Amino acid sequence: MVDILKSVMLTEAGVVHGFTTGTDFSTAAGFSALKETLQPTQPIYKMKQVHGNKVLVTSEMPPSEWTEAAELEGDAVIADTAAVAGVVTADCVPILVSCKQSGLVAAVHAGWRGLKAGIVRQTIKAMMHRGASIGGMVCAIGPCICLNCYEVSKDVADLFPESSDPIKGSKDKYLLDLALAAEVSLIGVGLSSVQIDKLEICTSCGTEALFSYRKSGGDCGRQYAFICK
Ligand SMILES: [Zn+2]
Repeated sequence: MVDILKSVMLTEAGVVHGFTTGTDFSTAAGFSALKETLQPTQPIYKMKQVHGNKVLVTSEMPPSEWTEAAELEGDAVIADTAAVAGVVTADCVPILVSCKQSGLVAAVHAGWRGLKAGIVRQTIKAMMHRGASIGGMVCAIGPCICLNCYEVSKDVADLFPESSDPIKGSKDKYLLDLALAAEVSLIGVGLSSVQIDKLEICTSCGTEALFSYRKSGGDCGRQYAFICK
């Protein structure tokens, strides 16, 4: 049984989705456990995430079923066919998007590199290209590293002036609020804050059940954020 956190907003919109906790999705075992929990009738999709801005579409990719060979590189996936679409994370921001009007859903992996590269904008634009409308969208920003736990260099902080704060007494150390940076990106493409549900759970200081790349020194599992069409 896989433990799953949910967004109130997506749940109210009737969207089957979740942010896993406690189960490691860096290997196939996690996905086998999720299949047993969800009993999905749709195929499950997984990408080879590379912190870029490439958006994949399920109708153009093979269901991965966790055979590494079938993986395609990308950091967001739009489901335009019956699918469980998802991303793996451990500190980076998982964003789930649903468009009621078109029935399209998407999962986005957004760390600072992906946000800077425009992964959020690319995803929303690609959804609109396929018939989605901004007004019909609801988004959830899942568990990620919080402002207090995410120290970054000035170079990185400078990319997100609206989402970073200098650390008092330090010249070149800053704290970055990745969830806020993701929200700013969503608002930048036209969404309103009332369409965005922030779970506000930190992968590092929030709960032991979540994997944190930073806290573990880079040696940890991954959680899976998924959304079903
Ligand atoms: Zn924290």
